[in-house]
Amino acid sequence: RASEVNPSVSRAPSPAFGSSALSKSRRSNENQHPMNRKEQSLAGPPQISSTNNNSSRPSSRSSNRGDSTRTSTRTDNLSVAAVSKETNIHVVVRCRGRNEREIKESSGVVISATGQKDITVQTGPLALSNKTYAFDRVFGPEADQAMVYEEVVAPILEEAMAGYNCTVFAYGQTGTGKTYTMSGDVSDNYGTFANDAGIIPRALYRLFQALEIEQSEYSVKCSFIELYNEELRDLISKDDDRKVKIFEDTNKKGIIIQGMEESFIKDPGEGLKILQDGSHKRQVAATKCNDLSSRSHTVFTITIHVKEISSEGEEYLRIGKLNLVDLAGSENISRSGAENKRAREAGMINQSLLTLGRVINALVDRSSHIPYRESKLTRLLQDSLGGRTKTCIIATISPAKMNLEETISTLDYASRAKNIRNKPQLNQ
Ligand code: ADP
Ligand code: MG
Repeated sequence: RASEVNPSVSRAPSPAFGSSALSKSRRSNENQHPMNRKEQSLAGPPQISSTNNNSSRPSSRSSNRGDSTRTSTRTDNLSVAAVSKETNIHVVVRCRGRNEREIKESSGVVISATGQKDITVQTGPLALSNKTYAFDRVFGPEADQAMVYEEVVAPILEEAMAGYNCTVFAYGQTGTGKTYTMSGDVSDNYGTFANDAGIIPRALYRLFQALEIEQSEYSVKCSFIELYNEELRDLISKDDDRKVKIFEDTNKKGIIIQGMEESFIKDPGEGLKILQDGSHKRQVAATKCNDLSSRSHTVFTITIHVKEISSEGEEYLRIGKLNLVDLAGSENISRSGAENKRAREAGMINQSLLTLGRVINALVDRSSHIPYRESKLTRLLQDSLGGRTKTCIIATISPAKMNLEETISTLDYASRAKNIRNKPQLNQ
């Protein structure tokens, strides 16, 4: 009989992110770094002007939250060659403990973990039918929010600060802990994040800590978007009816997101406020519409601009982005099956969730066609998926037998994103 997930995880605290060693080591790697090419000369301090189409307006570190913009343009310079060489998808699993309902219904634990990377699912009465999967990391119920953040997200925040476009997805069946993992407790705990805070609050505080240590000029902005039934809604805007639209930009280099607010934040508390207000807005809407919270995606994006000076003494901007995505419940695709036309017509299949899987598989398969255009989510994240980007999927699961089918489907999806990357590369 499988025992409850209990990987022997060392609780040794990871070093706090943001040491000055980071910025030094990044600078010593200047030539390899994607953002370390010179973007353009800057007008001079204290204004940091926007140098690529990531942003549509100038900012400065003293900008306040009232400064926001409704239209942003993103440039996508992905070439197939870049995609095939640099796509890097990290996949981890987080298994919560059994919830009250699962205990009450005496639904047994069918998940066990060996070491830090393997997870075994007991699919039947015989050990012979057990399925074992390997991931980059497996977290059991004893893994707290701090551990998941430090091990999984802290390194990704470093990459975002270094100029990469990074994305963390929470993927899994409704009720398995996606929102807990991404947001968790979003309250303010006397000027910092709460004990049970998830990834977004922690990333905001760690980011500002690290930026202060770097002692360069910087600006940080946030956007918060909800995607439901292939329609985007801005979660920052006070205007409930405002629609957010995605267009191809005229010279086909990227997309334009019209109607999306991007708020400059001068401290992590302002970012936390955006998360709190947006989450509240979402909950209010979710009570009106039953399946909204399980069928919608939220994307919280932090864009970081840091002014750098090259060895020739010229100023340029290092621009990175961190997308933190709480996906719709994976049951929205797994039960209906990808090709079930009738289910799709009835709106039972979540187009964005389905396409995300295809895009990730195309990226790890090094396919020449990446179907970004087939859903709003993948269009929205197009500049952060593939090419010089970092992606992490946190697959959340329940340990209970009553969810076995969904758990296997989640692990299959997650392992597909992981295993294919390990195939020998073509053309090499
Ligand atoms: P989802 O967003 O995937 O639908 P939630 O994040 O809302 O699921 O989690 C469902 C419930 O389980 C919430 O009450 C949440 O607090 C709790 N929960 C989820 N994961 C954990 C965990 N790792 N530790 C403690 N509680 C958890
Ligand atoms: Mg949720």
